[in-house]
Amino acid sequence: MLGQGNFAKVYHARNLKTGQNVAIKVFNKEMIMRVGMKEQMKREISVMRLVRHPNIVEFYDVMASKNKIYFAMEHVKGGELFNKVSRGKLREDMARKYFQQLIEAVNHCHKRGVYHRDLKPENLLLDENGDLKVSDFGLSAMLESKKKDGLLHTTCGTPAYVAPEVIKQKGYDGAVADIWSCGVILYVLLAGYLPFNDKNLMEMYKKIAKAEFKFPQWFRSDAKRLIYRILDPDPRTRITINNIMQDSWFKKGYKQIEGPKLPPIWPARGDVSDVHDTFDDLSSLSSSNELSSPMSIKNHEQYAMKPYCFNAFDIISLTSGFDLSGLFEKDMNERQHARFATKRPPSTVVSKLEEIAQLDGRFKVMKQNGIIRLEGNEKGINEQLSIDTEIYEVASSVYIVEVNKIAGDMLEYRNFWNQSLKPSLNEIVWVWQEYE
Ligand code: AMP
Repeated sequence: MLGQGNFAKVYHARNLKTGQNVAIKVFNKEMIMRVGMKEQMKREISVMRLVRHPNIVEFYDVMASKNKIYFAMEHVKGGELFNKVSRGKLREDMARKYFQQLIEAVNHCHKRGVYHRDLKPENLLLDENGDLKVSDFGLSAMLESKKKDGLLHTTCGTPAYVAPEVIKQKGYDGAVADIWSCGVILYVLLAGYLPFNDKNLMEMYKKIAKAEFKFPQWFRSDAKRLIYRILDPDPRTRITINNIMQDSWFKKGYKQIEGPKLPPIWPARGDVSDVHDTFDDLSSLSSSNELSSPMSIKNHEQYAMKPYCFNAFDIISLTSGFDLSGLFEKDMNERQHARFATKRPPSTVVSKLEEIAQLDGRFKVMKQNGIIRLEGNEKGINEQLSIDTEIYEVASSVYIVEVNKIAGDMLEYRNFWNQSLKPSLNEIVWVWQEYE
């Protein structure tokens, strides 16, 4: 175990095949449901995929078992930055380097509309090269929102890093509040202790609200000036990130990072935007050139039926009680939708669909990007009946097949489903998972 936070334990894990080290954050699923964090978690998973930066702990994947949710992240080996500070203040150039990296990370996220809202020592880790890595970007927004309802308030500990407007709970701008926390962090790095501290929590709140703090005598005037501008209790006049980056103390020895040089890691299926695209594009498939020529049954061997590999995100979305499908399946409820598991290979599923289409005589079969579409040759009452089937590999030799009506008359579909499609599919179904 690497550490423990409010909601999860973090473990070190290693991929035994590749040797890759990762950190795995383990959440108790029931607890997430109990405290009503499901929706936030859905959102935050997609947020974490957006923020990739050398100074931000990288989020790799999400997995799930019946009772737990696992976030796989970059393993950061150098421990928490504040272990260093607990041994005393840092040299000014070291403090500046960490602060520059912190501001880089925060700026990267703010530009993407992501706010941390919980920047504090535990979230600042060091890698083996001594570079800063901010953890929990995205996730903390979720935790923060829970604190507001009082439920988890007692677990949040000291408000030492929290901006006055956040404490007042009158609604706040996440970006400006993050800047305040960066100011407190900079103070701590240079001083070795907190700017606002009091045994009595109310007294501490009062000090924060008025930004009442003193500098130790070793602070240089340019550092003081910058911290004054950051720890401005009025969020409207507080310095912006752009202005911090223009500040003379900040700029000293500053080497701007040339954008994240990280390879894309998300498989198409795991990328929310791709998933969105996949679903959005389906409505326009029939006008696509590639699909306009139906594939004959004869050449189906040539068609490389490559099933998507399910990642755990998809699996969570299939588990009842933790259905994340809304994240990428906009209008599922309006569709006619069925899902089954099969142990037959994708080629058999494709053959079966082609056989059904041929026997019925009303459909042409089209395939693209792992989707098999049965499209009616004639218009029904108002539009052509169209049914899409997708195959996903969930384990070796186990596939999940999803069947969706995407266009056409409901009654016509029901008749086709009951009289032809379902009975024929029964021959290859291992277990029906769900039928709406
Ligand atoms: P958290 O719940 O994110 O505050 O994590 C609790 C503790 O686990 C942190 O304070 C770190 O010491 C450790 N930790 C979290 N994430 C990582 C990571 N990606 N790599 C190494 N240690 C981590």
